[in-house]
Amino acid sequence: MIKKLSHIGIAVRSLSEQIPYYRDFLGLPYLGEETVEEQKVRVALFQLGESRIELLEATSPESPIAKFIETKGPGLHHIALNVDDCAAALKKAAEEHIRLIDQTPRIGAEGFKIGFLHPKSSFGVLTEFIEEPEIHNEKGQGI
Ligand code: ZN
Repeated sequence: MIKKLSHIGIAVRSLSEQIPYYRDFLGLPYLGEETVEEQKVRVALFQLGESRIELLEATSPESPIAKFIETKGPGLHHIALNVDDCAAALKKAAEEHIRLIDQTPRIGAEGFKIGFLHPKSSFGVLTEFIEEPEIHNEKGQGI
């Protein structure tokens, strides 16, 4: 069911402050930025081998990222695992009594189907299931 690590999500106070660290110091290919209105976040993506690093900046104080930074400070926010079928993966998790944040998939950054497990059921690690088309994986391209 799980194919690989899709990306690591990192909560940041400021994309413009942190982008140079990943792009210039670490030298990771910068794939671009986009705003996910529904989540009230602005996302910057970097390629890291077959996976990506996703920086998340809140666009509003009501954003889940703003709330996360308020309580825990900036840093590692979630891991995202590739699945073949996001709806099926969430359904299977529910059947196995895993608490879910998303009962059904929604559309996340890059237009992919995503769904989050509740960190109380994943031992403190906020975990995202993401369904990405194969072509994305093979070419390693983002937006
Ligand atoms: Zn993510």
